[in-house]
Amino acid sequence: MIEIVDAVAWLVDLEVETVRTDAVQSFVKQETVFVEVTTNDGNKGIGYSYTIGTGGTSVLAMLREHLLPRLIGADAALVERVWFDLFASTRATTVGAITSLALAAVDTALWDLRCTRAGEPLWRLAGGFRPKVPLYDTEGGWLHLSTDELVAGARASQAAGWPGVKLKVGKPRLDEDVERLTAVRDAVGAGMDIMVDANQSMTQAEARRRAAAFEPLGLSWFEEPLPADDVAGHEALARGTAIPIAVGESMYSVAQFREYLARGAASIVQVDAARVGGITPWLKVAHTAEAFNVHVCPHFLMELHVSLVAAVPNGRYVEHIPQLRAITHGQMRIEDGHAVAPDTPGIGIDWDFDAIDDRRVA
Ligand code: MG
Repeated sequence: MIEIVDAVAWLVDLEVETVRTDAVQSFVKQETVFVEVTTNDGNKGIGYSYTIGTGGTSVLAMLREHLLPRLIGADAALVERVWFDLFASTRATTVGAITSLALAAVDTALWDLRCTRAGEPLWRLAGGFRPKVPLYDTEGGWLHLSTDELVAGARASQAAGWPGVKLKVGKPRLDEDVERLTAVRDAVGAGMDIMVDANQSMTQAEARRRAAAFEPLGLSWFEEPLPADDVAGHEALARGTAIPIAVGESMYSVAQFREYLARGAASIVQVDAARVGGITPWLKVAHTAEAFNVHVCPHFLMELHVSLVAAVPNGRYVEHIPQLRAITHGQMRIEDGHAVAPDTPGIGIDWDFDAIDDRRVA
C-alpha cells in the first residue's frame, strides 16, 4: 500500500497573459488551486485546478476543511477508490462546480504521483494513442478585437501551420458577427478550420438565426450557443443546423455528458479536466464520447489537456491559450501545427515553485 501521509493545498493568483473577452465575461485572473500529496515512500504528486476569477478561496476551503483530511491514510494507488470516497463524502454539494474543481486538484495530484512512480508520462499511462495532436488558436479571436485584428491573428496562425482558429461570436447584431467571420474566411481560404464560440449567450431563436447565417462559412463547430443546462435547446439546434454543436466546458459531471451524447445534442465534446473533477472522470467522458463516435476537443488548460488528447483515439484538437508560462519552466512544445505531449514522467508540467510562491495568496 502506498499510504498518503500528507496532503496540503494552496491558492495562487495568476495574471491573465492577455485581455480575453467573450459575449458574457472577461477572464479576470487565473485562481490556481494546488494540491500536493506525499506518500510513505517519499514520493510527491502535484495537482491543480483553476477558476477564471471567482470562487478560488471556496475551492481551497472545500479542500482544506473537508477533502484533504480524508486523504490521510488512503492508498494513493487506488485512484478510482479515492475519487469515489471523496465524491461520496460531499453528496450535499454535488454535482457542483466548487466540489468538482476541488476533486480535480486531488485527482490530478494522484495521477501525477501514479505517473511519476511508474516512470511514465501521462499521455502514455492514460491510454497512449499518439504524442502529437492538432492545435487551434483562441488567442487571436477574442470578442473585443477588431476585424482587422482577427484577420491578422488568423493569418499568423495559418502562416505558422496551425490547422484552426476560434473566433468569439455574440456581437449585438448578427451582421457584425457575419462581417467578422466572412473577413477571416476570405483571408485564410477554405483550407483552414474556423470555429465560433458564443459562451452560452444566446436564446434558442437567436442561435437558430445565427447558425443559419453562419452556415455558408463552413465552420467546424458552433460552441456553447445556449446555456449549458438547456439540453433540449442544444438537441433541437444540433438537428436543425449542419454546423457541429460543441459543448462541455460548463459541465461538471460525467452524467451530464452522457445525457448530451445520448440525445444527439453534442457533436463535439469539450470536457475540461478541472471542471469535470479531474483526469479520472475526464477519461470516462472521452471514452463515452468515443462510443458515440464523437470527438473530444477539451476546453482551455492546454498544458494538461495536451497529454489527455494524446491519450485517446477520439482526441481531435488542443486549444491554444497559454496561461501557465509565469509559473512553469519551458513551454508546451509546438511542431508543425501540432502540440506535443511531454515525455517526462508525471502530468507533464514543470512547475517553477519560486514563481508559484511569489504569487501565493492563501
Ligand atoms: Mg468556450
